[in-house]
Amino acid sequence: MMLPQFTMGGYTGLIHSITRSGFQIKPISALPDKQENCVYLRHDVDLSISLVVNVAELESAAGISATYFVLLTGTYNPFHEESIAAIRKIKSLGHEIGLHYDLKHWPENRQEADEKLKNEIAILESISESKVDAIVMHEPFRGGEDFFATDVAESGLINPTYYQRTDGGLCYVSDSCRAWRDDTLVKFIDRKLPQTRLMLNTHPELWLATKSQSRITYLENELTPAVTNSIRNYFRNTVKPVWETHHAAVTGYGDQDEE
Ligand SMILES: [Zn+2]
Repeated sequence: MMLPQFTMGGYTGLIHSITRSGFQIKPISALPDKQENCVYLRHDVDLSISLVVNVAELESAAGISATYFVLLTGTYNPFHEESIAAIRKIKSLGHEIGLHYDLKHWPENRQEADEKLKNEIAILESISESKVDAIVMHEPFRGGEDFFATDVAESGLINPTYYQRTDGGLCYVSDSCRAWRDDTLVKFIDRKLPQTRLMLNTHPELWLATKSQSRITYLENELTPAVTNSIRNYFRNTVKPVWETHHAAVTGYGDQDEE
């Protein structure tokens, strides 16, 4: 096979290539089983939860389930009704919801840090109306120690980073920045590597294009308008009519445009 294009078609093809080669696709909760011929599918949702429902549907139609790691402190608001609906929809399609924690704004005191993690998990459980057993850190490349990357036996939580560090039979491939670092993915699927297990981390927002294009074109022409669409619509359909009709606005005093 060849490295897939970052399009919905490319993603479908990737799933088919994996299963055609005899690998089973499973969510992150299956990691501790260390089953052979397995691909653990993980999605770090960094930019928009509502945009990734399409990918969750595509996977569900293909009969597979993945783990979607949701940020509580990112640019999308997980409490927004659109996000809540998206998270519950993803869950109802048979996927798992995990917490994508961001240590950038975390307390340094260990007890407070543990407390904060517990709080974020409880919040996500209430939003998703489901148990959250899996957690993973956001932007590990920014450095800082990931002290939550521990064994499930110790914490009761499954953290894929722990398995990445300790399980020699597990390969790791990520699609960060719409780029493949090398051809590990191809070699794995073509069974040219000694490992028979792969953790595949994809960011579903990066795959929404219908045709192939450069990452910057995709970012500027497809992703940015899509991600900001809901906010733009809110200003246009909700804020503007209120500003035009509110009693204070109609009868009161305010600035006018300068000539
Ligand atoms: Zn992330």
